[in-house]
Amino acid sequence: MPRNAVLCARMPGGRHTSAGCVGVVVARWGHFIDGAVASGDTQGRAEVRDPATDEVIAEIDIGGPVEIDRAVAAAKKAFRGWSHTPPGERSAILLRWSQELATRAEEYARVESRQAGKPIRLAREFDIPGTIDNVAFFAGAARNLEGKASAEYSADHTSSIRREPVGVVGSVSPWNYPLQMAAWKILPAVAAGNTIVLKPAENTPLTSVMFAEAAAVAGMPRGVVNVVVGTGVVAGAALLRHSDVDMVSFTGSTRVGRTVLEAAATTIKRVHLELGGKAPFVVFDDADLDAAIHGAVAASLINCGQDCTAATRAIVHRSLHDRFVDGVADLYRVVRIGPTSDPATDLGPLISQAHRERVAGIVERARGYARVVTGGRVPDGFDRGAYYEPTLIASVTPGTEAFTDEIFGPVLTVTPFDDDDAAIAMANDTAYGLAASAWTRDVYRALRATSDIRAGCVWVNDHIPIISEMPHGGLKSSGFGKDMSTYSLDDYTCAHGR
Ligand code: NAD
Repeated sequence: MPRNAVLCARMPGGRHTSAGCVGVVVARWGHFIDGAVASGDTQGRAEVRDPATDEVIAEIDIGGPVEIDRAVAAAKKAFRGWSHTPPGERSAILLRWSQELATRAEEYARVESRQAGKPIRLAREFDIPGTIDNVAFFAGAARNLEGKASAEYSADHTSSIRREPVGVVGSVSPWNYPLQMAAWKILPAVAAGNTIVLKPAENTPLTSVMFAEAAAVAGMPRGVVNVVVGTGVVAGAALLRHSDVDMVSFTGSTRVGRTVLEAAATTIKRVHLELGGKAPFVVFDDADLDAAIHGAVAASLINCGQDCTAATRAIVHRSLHDRFVDGVADLYRVVRIGPTSDPATDLGPLISQAHRERVAGIVERARGYARVVTGGRVPDGFDRGAYYEPTLIASVTPGTEAFTDEIFGPVLTVTPFDDDDAAIAMANDTAYGLAASAWTRDVYRALRATSDIRAGCVWVNDHIPIISEMPHGGLKSSGFGKDMSTYSLDDYTCAHGR
């Protein structure tokens, strides 16, 4: 029996109907509160659908303030014990947690692929191994929290500085990398001794619930990691405004990030925001053009372009511009679009039909001011699901919708430039500041780009690599605070004087 059937067997009223092809069970799922799978449908129930086929793959309880209250109470109760647990013991639990995930990696990959419409290869090779590594990384980081030594900063006092967890963290995560985003919120928080209540996106909650369950299997004390499934406007808002939540950490759109910030102001909470992006991909005239073309294709289409760091705006020196456009278009036309369960598939669907309509609307309007070179339509034979062709738009000028707005789909715009100053200015001509890349063989140009492009991360001759040791987070409307790396521990701890 698949493990999630075990999960559902513990649910009151669970149904165990096999959905077939990838072993996901259509069953009633719930929350994870105080160390156990928990029912709670005060806001009704919802269906989780596979964006590739539109099939229902699970039914889930939708919680609201009542379930949030239960979870926050559990997290509050668990805080003293967990925050006083020696780092070595916390670390051992996290290590077992990563091993538990590794044991069940294929099951996680299949559920993630189905709920988020991800090609199974992406889930197997990126989402799940990345999360396993992230848990293992924070197992190590938990033992490396530094406090400053005591000292006599004034002649007649001895002072010490304690680095302490903030308390109960309320987190809200998005649907694009459901498991990874949940992990990026949960891991630094609990490694540093906080307890947490996470509200995942309501359309992709399954692997977040599984992740919390795996923590319990690994020996995580009850109440440290809680997951409440619900909508943003009800459960999310209740969590972010809760008087017993000390800190809110949010990954999602800049629009909702603003409301998170406003909500935090009412009860003066610490805030951590990972928001949208519109990454420039700058190709200088000395770049390895073939590498840049392949890099642009991979980095613009990863996760069907639903990636906050995806390459979205190619800014290309005029001398390479036409060859770049032709090269990307040629590769876009042969990308393998297919069922997400097929390991050969490169490009799966968008998250929903509604999101596809939004993406298509931006492309249709772009036809009025730019040139759609390829794509801009539903691929033949893919009427079910939310598929959309890789779309290249050339002659896009700064200030237009396609250049400015986060499209969050398999769409790359191209804009030519004539000199380095113009390229850097164009790269920075955005409200966002999350990620960017510079393609050049000149080390001085590369160094200038990494220093002058205002983004949390600037890659050189690559775009997208993500690793647990490196901080991830943005500037400007992309938010503030860091995920991953030991720097994220700064966000989830306070320095207190004694
Ligand atoms: P979203 O902002 O619509 O939703 C994110 C989460 O917020 C969901 O769980 C949703 O239920 C919740 N939510 C919605 N309204 C809320 C409210 N009023 N109060 C509390 N919670 C609320 O974003 P999305 O569409 O799920 O995700 C895509 C966005 O996330 C993109 O903008 C993308 O760039 C961004 N993102 C950023 C990062 C990063 O690290 N910076 C990573 C992944 C995704």
